[in-house]
Amino acid sequence: MESAPQKRQRTELQLARKRQADRVSQKAKREQAKRNMDHLETQLAKLQDTVELLSDQLQAMHAELRERDKHCPSHCRPPPPQSTASDVQPLGSLDGDNNAETSKDENPSEVPAKQPSSKKRNRSPADSPLDLIKCLCGVQHQVQSECLEYSTFSILLKTHENLAEGKELPITTWLPRTPSLVSIFCPAASTNPVIRILGAFFRQVHPTKVSTLLACCLLMYRYLRWRLYPDKETFRDVPEWVHPTEIQKTVPHPVCVDFIPWPKLRDYIVLHKYTDPRHSVSLFIRSIRVRWPDNRDFYTMSAQGELLLDPEFEEAVYRYENWQISKDWIEMFPALKDYVNVEEDEGDSQTAPNWP
Ligand SMILES: [Zn+2]
Ligand SMILES: [Zn+2]
Repeated sequence: MESAPQKRQRTELQLARKRQADRVSQKAKREQAKRNMDHLETQLAKLQDTVELLSDQLQAMHAELRERDKHCPSHCRPPPPQSTASDVQPLGSLDGDNNAETSKDENPSEVPAKQPSSKKRNRSPADSPLDLIKCLCGVQHQVQSECLEYSTFSILLKTHENLAEGKELPITTWLPRTPSLVSIFCPAASTNPVIRILGAFFRQVHPTKVSTLLACCLLMYRYLRWRLYPDKETFRDVPEWVHPTEIQKTVPHPVCVDFIPWPKLRDYIVLHKYTDPRHSVSLFIRSIRVRWPDNRDFYTMSAQGELLLDPEFEEAVYRYENWQISKDWIEMFPALKDYVNVEEDEGDSQTAPNWP
């Protein structure tokens, strides 16, 4: 009979132990829950930091480029931070960072610059504005150097850093006024950095005709030459209708937009935050028609047998009326037809009055 109380006593002891064990277990659970919560809070803080860091980077980029604008007529602002993925984005949605209606996706890097961080922080030297460049080409690149926005922004950034430090060579030693035909058609062998950039880009994006490719290269070359080495002479070599408009000078936009030969269309693209995914550099290049008779060469031959650019072709390239866009493009964007020169009917270009 003595075993019962003993048994009950053990049971009470066991119960006590169990209660103790439960308390420990509950405490452990609470601690685990707290650790989980702390972890989540840490993660959240880190994400917040990332967002602020990106915002800071954007601010710094803008400040840096504005500072440069004081010293030279370069005007482009870097695009707002975007995903570095090479997926195609609508051209018009990428320009303004100072516009509240700019659409946002879930990418934490897409932080409007108007919400700057108030905190000061140290940036690692690895942080670069180049990480934030957004491809607008409309094609998938195998290598980053094929991307027009990336390569032009990179060389502008690097050259102006060098210029600011007085390290850049005089332009005549590395950027002739007009590149040779040989360099344009054999860009990989060229020592001209702008020709190499254009060559890499045109490997992927092809105009309809060789003469149009040449015309695009000449125009883009002159524009980039001025942007790389802004002075009176290089500016004079850029056709007036490629000069930046007031809107280009004041509203941030990707460098690619500056290559569009029609000023009204540039303004439209810079100003309108439309999100038409059909726009891309590739579509523009494929739709450009530069008037030049099909049955006429664009080169002449020197007495030494050297192929030279036909001066009349060059003159035609620098005439605004000769830059037209295809009727197919107009069919896609009928509302934009007043901003461009529309392609003429077949045959018109042969008898056009605008040849030099
Ligand atoms: Zn610009
Ligand atoms: Zn690209």
